[in-house]
Amino acid sequence: MTQIPISEIPEEGLPLSYSEEAAELDLAVPGARFLQPIAVDLVLAKAAQEISAHGRIKTSVMCECVRCLSQFPVPLDILVATQFRPALPPLPPGEHRMPSEEAEDYYYQDDVVVLDDLVRQEVILAVPFSPQCRADCRGLCPQCGQDLNVGTCACATPPDPRWAVLREYLKGR
Ligand SMILES: [Zn+2]
Ligand SMILES: [Zn+2]
Repeated sequence: MTQIPISEIPEEGLPLSYSEEAAELDLAVPGARFLQPIAVDLVLAKAAQEISAHGRIKTSVMCECVRCLSQFPVPLDILVATQFRPALPPLPPGEHRMPSEEAEDYYYQDDVVVLDDLVRQEVILAVPFSPQCRADCRGLCPQCGQDLNVGTCACATPPDPRWAVLREYLKGR
């Protein structure tokens, strides 16, 4: 667990650079497999009660195309510009707080910033929700399952006009 006591953050900011395995972070995203450790490059800085975090998080994940089911790697390069705010004291049971506008902020407790929560959350948000191997993936034939990126099948599918244009272009070369 990567945690930084606030007393260790100097006035000029604290640069941090480390990498961690997804498993160590307890990080799992359905449908995605991590291909490399999560590389974290951040600068923490104090601003009154808040601790700002700026930098980037990089990794790459293997995703499955929602259309053709092929596996393909997705590099993630996440820009981070957020802050940790002091955690609010717990409410007595039965009381609720209105959700704040700054719901995207993170919180610290006991004068210690835990970076794992931020890293986990930023990576989860960055993994494509509905991954597609390429913008014009043609998917699988709903009748025979043929991967239409690889070849056509005997089932009746209307010809895609975009392919006709490409064919004309290739003929003219
Ligand atoms: Zn695809
Ligand atoms: Zn077919």
